[in-house]
Amino acid sequence: MSDGTLQPEELAARAKANGVELWALTDHDEVGGQQRARDAALALGLPYLTGTEISVTFAGITVHIVGLGFDADNPALTAGLAATRGGREQRAREMSDGLAMVGIRGAYDGALKYVGNPELISRTHFARFLVETGACQDTHEVFRKYLVEGKPGYVPHRWAKLGDAIRWIHDAHGIAVIAHPGRYKFTANEEYALFTEFKAHGGRGVEVITGSHGTADFLKYADMALEFDLLASRGSDFHSPDESHVDLGTLPPLPGRLTPVWEALADRVQLPS
Ligand code: AMP
Ligand code: MN
Repeated sequence: MSDGTLQPEELAARAKANGVELWALTDHDEVGGQQRARDAALALGLPYLTGTEISVTFAGITVHIVGLGFDADNPALTAGLAATRGGREQRAREMSDGLAMVGIRGAYDGALKYVGNPELISRTHFARFLVETGACQDTHEVFRKYLVEGKPGYVPHRWAKLGDAIRWIHDAHGIAVIAHPGRYKFTANEEYALFTEFKAHGGRGVEVITGSHGTADFLKYADMALEFDLLASRGSDFHSPDESHVDLGTLPPLPGRLTPVWEALADRVQLPS
């Protein structure tokens, strides 16, 4: 529902075909696809957990906090997500203005075509539009040249506060997980502060094995999970067959010395009847 190219039902079928044993759909700042994902998964005999990925600003950097196993109808959570989404349209217009300055016209409307709902417009949709126009070969090149800090389509934005995102997840009886920590450009001190504050707010898990991590990150964040006494999670971050490096269900397992986040979520897993 946010920035993936497949429908929830197509993802469920792909997960099942790839041997996934427990699946969560984690749209950015949105839970509107949860019912469809759950229904499709259970119909295929695939156990399901609710999921979302909340955009947070910490120390000036965008961090994603995954929520798992929450009640998707919880008003505190849905209101918090709606408030987070609220900034996307204005930011996208500013991104489009920045791209127009370097001769790329019509980017707002072009990106919007790929999402429909301006509340969910993201850099990924701009990337698809720039590939469509031939400005770049693939979406990774678009990010490098246009959509990261210092480039013409980049607009700094203040997302949710870390403590608020964790509170919304907790209010809805879910577990908060730091998404792909290896992707953030933090100093060692800032990263330590993120983990420390995350714990202080009651956050309980960290993604160790993800499509956004290399082998060195697997080892580093396995150690961090132990150091901070965090549950470990595993997620493909799969967006599209054409854009993602890692497919659903193809990542290595969690290192055995870690406690999987799903052990703490056993009573939240929805099982096929
Ligand atoms: P946004 O929430 O609009 O800032 O967009 C974030 C999304 O952009 C992430 O979830 C990724 O899917 C994608 N993304 C971020 N950085 C890159 C990158 N360097 N290459 C490809 N996709 C990226
Ligand atoms: Mn994404």
